Amino acid sequence: FAETPLVVRDLRKAYSDGFVAVEEISFTVERGQVVGLLGPNGAGKTTTLRVLMGLTMPTGGDALVFGHRLSPGAPILSRVGALVEGPGFLPHLSGLDNLKAYWRATGRPESDAHFEEALEIAGLGDSVHRKTRKYSHGMRQRLAIAQAMLGLPELLVLDEPTDGLDPPQIAEMRRVLRRYATDGRAVLVSSHLLAEVEQTCTHAVVVNKGRIVASGPVDEIVGESPSVLLDVSDV
Ligand code: ATP
Repeated sequence: FAETPLVVRDLRKAYSDGFVAVEEISFTVERGQVVGLLGPNGAGKTTTLRVLMGLTMPTGGDALVFGHRLSPGAPILSRVGALVEGPGFLPHLSGLDNLKAYWRATGRPESDAHFEEALEIAGLGDSVHRKTRKYSHGMRQRLAIAQAMLGLPELLVLDEPTDGLDPPQIAEMRRVLRRYATDGRAVLVSSHLLAEVEQTCTHAVVVNKGRIVASGPVDEIVGESPSVLLDVSDV
């Protein structure tokens, strides 16, 4: 499994109050795939993504990124880009300067950042030079996506990336994520919208109440299991 971008095996997370947020979650993300983690609010998507990014410990099972368990500061983190917690931007700095400050903090050479590619992909145009305190919610979201894409990581993990974007921006984001997974890269993206996953992803993992109810290539999921999708297409 060492070169598989993501292997999740029998993951379980019970919070300290005893609430079991996810249980028996197993799936893989291979190179070239855009995998959608699809489910209604409260299904356990954010919990799953937080566990696999090493932001919270699982109470059972494993999540291995290129064969490693992630933890804050782990060297393997340089191969992963994530938008899981809304990043705080410095309001008095421009979007570009925020990205530069972030990149510097990672300690990696500036030449590895691929600022231009990340910004072009996120489509912020000239607004990269504006102070982020003047950004709309959608612009912040795009800057956060650009930040996750810095260094063009081999695995990109995004929690509800289209939240706050308008329809043309959502359509563009679909193209971006599809394109991103070429060249041997991989994407895991969460969503509560069936149509979005159907149009963006190659594969889907459908979760409800903390458990997987269907998974596989998107065409099969949408074609063969409409009943399991009722919950998610309604929200
Ligand atoms: P959303 O789209 O609303 O974020 P989600 O699918 O990402 O939904 P999670 O945020 O993972 O779902 O939450 C799953 C369940 O775990 C919810 O019922 C939530 O109330 C619960 N939960 C989340 N964090 C905690 C916590 N720290 N302690 C206890 N329960 C929690």
